[in-house]
Amino acid sequence: IVSRKNQPDSTVIKVKDTLVGGKASIMVAGPCSVESYQQTREVGAALKEAGVPILRGGAFKPRTSPYDFQGLGVEGLQILKRVGDEFGLATISEIVDPRHLEEAVQYIDIIQIGARNMHNFELLKAAGETRTPVLLKRGLSATMEEFLHAAEYIVSRGNTQVMLIERGIRTYEKWTRNTLDISAVPILKRESHLPVLVDVTHSTGRKDILAPCAKAALAAGADGIMVEVHPNPAVALSDAQQQLNIPEFQKFFSDVKESGLLK
Ligand code: PEP
Ligand code: MN
Repeated sequence: IVSRKNQPDSTVIKVKDTLVGGKASIMVAGPCSVESYQQTREVGAALKEAGVPILRGGAFKPRTSPYDFQGLGVEGLQILKRVGDEFGLATISEIVDPRHLEEAVQYIDIIQIGARNMHNFELLKAAGETRTPVLLKRGLSATMEEFLHAAEYIVSRGNTQVMLIERGIRTYEKWTRNTLDISAVPILKRESHLPVLVDVTHSTGRKDILAPCAKAALAAGADGIMVEVHPNPAVALSDAQQQLNIPEFQKFFSDVKESGLLK
């Protein structure tokens, strides 16, 4: 179903007033984790001012260590909804457990399935039973074929509103957090009609190369970019090193916009 052979026209997904996968490319930004109303609101206000339509924020965090901050759970989703409604932004948050989906879709506009859960087939099937758009991340070491099959798990259950997002893969390279696989963008666009985004933050883990990587992704045909933004990254409860503060985000966004690649 996800193959372009089966559907030559690109899928366009409408989220609130924003179209994903159409002629325009979009920016998705927000904190790694929703930590408080105040923190999320500060980012939401900056997105509104910049004209960024989609706010991301993790509420159920799949942390490497069980002793690290695990997220605010449903309260985090409620904060996202409050801020989204306040500024007219669509919202995205990761769901890690099929049992949370029904409640979650009351609060968020897009369900994120994270890299660690790309192979969680019961979660994929459950997301496929909803009628809420899904942002599916590429697994930590998933091939293109595995990635597209994961998307197929969702759409085969009737939820055709799936967006793919390249977020870097594991390689031997240590100077970036993951290796951004730019070639994934034109391959996925060719093989599938689904929208393709690139998460420049998790793929690189480096604030100093976000703008050139975002431009490269857009030049390669990406339908959107995701970036992490926090009002005070130094005290962030997750991914403190890689999040942009608000002035850094504004600079990043205008740099990408001025390139003319963000349409
Ligand atoms: C995230 O986007 O917050 C996240 C945890 O990313 P990934 O699943 O790509 O590691
Ligand atoms: Mn993060």
